[in-house]
Amino acid sequence: DSSAKVIDGKAVAKQIRDEITAEVSRMRESIGVIPGLAVILVGDRKDSATYVRNKKKACESVGINSLEANLPEDSTEEEVLNYISGYNDDPSVHGILVQLPLPSHMNEQNILNAVRIEKDVDGFHPLNIGRLAMRGRDPLFVPCTPKGCIELLHRYDVSIKGKRAVVIGRSNIVGMPAREDATVSVVHSRTSNPEEVTRQADIIIAAVGQPNMVRENWIKPGAVIIDVGINPVEDPNSTRGYKLVGDVCYEEAIKVASAVTPVPGGVGPMTIAMLLQNTLISAKRVHNFE
Ligand code: NDP
Repeated sequence: DSSAKVIDGKAVAKQIRDEITAEVSRMRESIGVIPGLAVILVGDRKDSATYVRNKKKACESVGINSLEANLPEDSTEEEVLNYISGYNDDPSVHGILVQLPLPSHMNEQNILNAVRIEKDVDGFHPLNIGRLAMRGRDPLFVPCTPKGCIELLHRYDVSIKGKRAVVIGRSNIVGMPAREDATVSVVHSRTSNPEEVTRQADIIIAAVGQPNMVRENWIKPGAVIIDVGINPVEDPNSTRGYKLVGDVCYEEAIKVASAVTPVPGGVGPMTIAMLLQNTLISAKRVHNFE
């Protein structure tokens, strides 16, 4: 009796990419500017390489230029900073993304601080995060994953204002509850009885990194669930030996919730679409193009 609606992030992301494609070509035709995104990848983590490849493909699909710097694992922090400084000064680059995590011998703070905030399309510069957190201030960019979560709720007409939202996880990537007038609680690894908190929620956003952690009894009937988690779990039936699951037990959630995002095909494609959108916003802003 699965009654929940599946929130099709892949389809919404496609729709947004189509909108971006149209804007990119309008911009190119009217002022001759093509938005550009530079991605810096350090080391050879397989998951990071996959994310970078997908971002590059997504750029191509909407007509955004993509530049890529692949640096070896044993690069120095200075070498990474040199690339950032080159992209900071390059007028054809409107967005700079440093793929995380960086190798452990590098200071992530130093590196993220070095990205010009006007090009911080990931929204991870402390000034952007600070402005996001402050009342009455606007960041230049909202980080892609939370932006994608909110956009999904909007496009599915889920009202947020006055609702109880619970975010599970408090990392930089997703831990900033939106300025959408929800009443927000944050659950983390030290929260006792997290399921009692999540059961109050009209909207649950799970960003933990624990496969299938959110079970049926964590969910209020009719709640809307956004599952950010991407967790590889062993799967002998798959040729690569694993499959990806979310932080929410999908089979159980679909029975009690009113709407659920699947993994894959939910938040993941939205994160990439928001990266493209932030790059377009940046190019429009610097060229005063409306
Ligand atoms: P982090 O490891 O940085 O943060 C995890 C958060 O979850 C922490 O705040 C931690 O609490 C909390 N947590 C861990 N265990 C528990 C628990 N048992 N109960 C309650 N809270 C817990 O992860 P990220 O935020 O970077 O990523 C989270 C997940 O989202 C991952 O699966 C990642 O792959 C995925 N992701 C997906 C993206 C997408 O586009 N779909 C983008 C980014 C991430 P504490 O602070 O106390 O340690």
